[in-house]
Amino acid sequence: MTTVPPPAAPAPDPISPVQAAALRDGVLPPVEEIRPGIWTIAVPFRSGTADATLAYVVEGTDGVLTVIDPGWASDDGPEVLRAGLRDIGRSVDDIGLVVVTHLHADHLGAAAAIRRASGARVAMHRLEVEALRREHDDAVANDADIATWGVPDDLRAGVVAAWGSGRRIGLGRTEEPLADLLVEDGDLLPVAGRGLRALWTPGHTAGHLCFVDVKDGLLFTGDHVLPRINSGIGLGGRTGANPLGQYLDSLVRLEGYGDLEVCPGHEYRFRDVVTRVRALVRHREERTCHVAGALDDLSSPTLFEVASRVPFSGGIDSMSGFLLASALTQTAFHVDLLGRGDEVRPA
Ligand SMILES: [Zn+2]
Repeated sequence: MTTVPPPAAPAPDPISPVQAAALRDGVLPPVEEIRPGIWTIAVPFRSGTADATLAYVVEGTDGVLTVIDPGWASDDGPEVLRAGLRDIGRSVDDIGLVVVTHLHADHLGAAAAIRRASGARVAMHRLEVEALRREHDDAVANDADIATWGVPDDLRAGVVAAWGSGRRIGLGRTEEPLADLLVEDGDLLPVAGRGLRALWTPGHTAGHLCFVDVKDGLLFTGDHVLPRINSGIGLGGRTGANPLGQYLDSLVRLEGYGDLEVCPGHEYRFRDVVTRVRALVRHREERTCHVAGALDDLSSPTLFEVASRVPFSGGIDSMSGFLLASALTQTAFHVDLLGRGDEVRPA
């Protein structure tokens, strides 16, 4: 019998009145100065939607701007970023550094265009550069995994298209070179007069970074910790490690920063990262229990049969393509973490 832990805490409240109002009204929040010389600009994924990346603009004492996660390059995202910079009396030309939390297009996408326009350097973790270089080969290699998962025939092509060899290149790569500056755990970013330090937080992707600014009391969390969304795991290419195990370790790393204001890559800013981290850990523990329960109940199941017993939001029956691929890979990480991989039958 597997005991499922108590439900996770509710999502934290927004601390910014303008972000709270935007959330309520389903619109993009306006540009906001969150500390002297630090602003957030909501860069939309697609025109006319409130789905956005929160780009953070940090001014150095030399006047040079650093942008953390400039957002997606498609549609009107770059124009919204330019307009946001105009609002604060600056322009793309003033950007000297673009630093990204991870390789996904909604964070890295606009970096190349900014580099072209202003000569800004682009910085990210070494593992993100490697994953971007391997992206096509990794996608092809995923086909062999997908073939063993027991995905029903009518859904398999969609999973291959989203996760395997059918995947179109474009997690974020727009051109070479991918990075001018490699950032490692503990590195201080070259931003004059600021104290922005990188924290390596693998899990969502292998080279995901958070940034700690103790002086200004801010913690930039990218997609590692979001206020309402449970981040996907292992979405940055193939690695030798179990991304779920890495993710749980990376969550615990943030517990030392409970007094900082959390600046995530999406949604809204909030306080008390420790409570949110514990809710996310509990969510994963619940999922591990459901996977363990499925393995207890089923005799030699396929990965798809195990995943079918896990109460994913919306239910696996409603999933196809990328969502289904992500649900299946996450189930595989839980199985692996339980050390019960030999109980799952390759289809
Ligand atoms: Zn994102």
